[in-house]
Amino acid sequence: MAERVRWQCNVCGFISETEAPPERCPVCDAPWTAFQKMPEPLVKRLARIEITEKRPTGTKYVIIGNSSAGRAAASAIRQLDKGGLITILSEESSPFYYRPILPDYIGGMEGRRSSAQRGD
Ligand SMILES: Cc1cc2nc3c(=O)[nH]c(=O)nc-3n(C[C@H](O)[C@H](O)[C@H](O)COP(=O)(O)OP(=O)(O)OC[C@H]3O[C@@H](n4cnc5c(N)ncnc54)[C@H](O)[C@@H]3O)c2cc1C
Repeated sequence: MAERVRWQCNVCGFISETEAPPERCPVCDAPWTAFQKMPEPLVKRLARIEITEKRPTGTKYVIIGNSSAGRAAASAIRQLDKGGLITILSEESSPFYYRPILPDYIGGMEGRRSSAQRGD
């Protein structure tokens, strides 16, 4: 049996868990071309990784750099060690921001809040 995939409608955000995108969106009637394949959830991706040296829960982690790689590392650690203490060090004075939105932010087309990838 083919694996079910999560497809998201770019128009209204509806998510369809099917082998292929639906012909038309059942919510907004957008055509199948409006559907985009969603990335696999982090928990599922991490389940495929073989942990060779498991850290005891409560381990202290230090990540240098508060951008995409640092945030991704922190999310992965949090999934694998719920009790770990994660410290992220950054040389930047601003909180985390999503770099691809920088030109729009500087040009005044994006607000400061929307330039943050996640609020956590
Ligand atoms: C304007 C712009 C538009 C972009 N658009 C896209 C796009 O559309 N699609 C795409 O895929 N990518 C895009 N990128 C690239 C994307 O932003 C980078 O690939 C991504 O940010 C890399 O993430 P990173 O965590 O590896 O490195 P970085 O984002 O460079 O983060 C490294 C972090 O480490 C910190 N750091 C470094 N050294 C130290 C130190 N010694 N002590 C403490 N902190 C330190 C830095 O201050 C920084 O915060 C864009 C980048 C820019 C600037």
